[in-house]
Amino acid sequence: GVFVVGSINQDFVLRLERRPEPGETVTGAELSLFPGGKGANSAVAAARLGARVAMLGRVGEDAFGADLVRNLREAGVDTTHVGSVPGVPTGSAFITVTPDGENAIVVSPGANRSFGPREVDAAAEDLRAAGVLVAQLEVDAGAVGRAARAVMGAGGRFLLNFAPPREVPEGILALADPLVVNEHEARFLLGEAGGEPEAAVEGLLGRGPRSVVVTLGAEGALLAAGGSTRRFGAPEVEAVDTTGAGDAFVGALAARLAGGDGLEEAVPYAVLAGAAAVTREGAQGSLPTPEEVEGLD
Ligand code: ADP
Repeated sequence: GVFVVGSINQDFVLRLERRPEPGETVTGAELSLFPGGKGANSAVAAARLGARVAMLGRVGEDAFGADLVRNLREAGVDTTHVGSVPGVPTGSAFITVTPDGENAIVVSPGANRSFGPREVDAAAEDLRAAGVLVAQLEVDAGAVGRAARAVMGAGGRFLLNFAPPREVPEGILALADPLVVNEHEARFLLGEAGGEPEAAVEGLLGRGPRSVVVTLGAEGALLAAGGSTRRFGAPEVEAVDTTGAGDAFVGALAARLAGGDGLEEAVPYAVLAGAAAVTREGAQGSLPTPEEVEGLD
């Protein structure tokens, strides 16, 4: 199965005419609440595509946290290792969207930052039983590294989605198989040496992972593994909202790898899942079913 060590957020989406200047009040904003967090999104994505999925994460002891855990459970995710932390708010993202479609986001990590290697050790038995670990960087890097070693020690693989990009202990990159990045994250890791995606994968492999996947939006994705690089094009779709495309991609990739596929089969499937996700609004709400993914093939 798939085991996700990651973030669980309450997303507050505010549609407004314009953002306030410092000291100013803007009224008339329309608020919508959505379940979010890259960890939870990818867990739900993998579960919707038929994988057995468990998650390790933390929420606050508040109404948002309770709702988010229920949402995960209803999506079929095993929440045995999702706990609530007293005195800390549930992770939140405040997303302002203006009529031009531009968004500006403030994130409060809250409870997502209140677990580390110790909490990973408490879940070690289930981690070792999972074939594929998925992690992003919205949670403690020490916890991610510990989980990766546990899974790999039992013969499983570690899928690291380098999002949102930030400095991490170098050893973590070398455990990844694959390292999954979008073009922005690739540039963060490579600095100015970014350049063409085909050249970027060489630089990324140089950081130590066994395999690299670079997602290219409407252009699909590049896979570098076993000494060769291949590009898988995305189908043409009407892009309504690209929020969560990367999380859908990662969840689908993990689901296929856990089902026994190699990267050569799993990456093109994940490309289709990402494309399906951009045809609908929202992050978790837009995650595709197997029928929707296959319909794009
Ligand atoms: P992120 O959401 O992390 O920025 P990308 O934009 O690279 O990542 O999108 C991830 C995947 O979603 C792509 O590899 C592709 O499969 C799919 N995708 C994203 N945007 C589009 C699009 N406009 N048309 C078709 N597929 C898309």
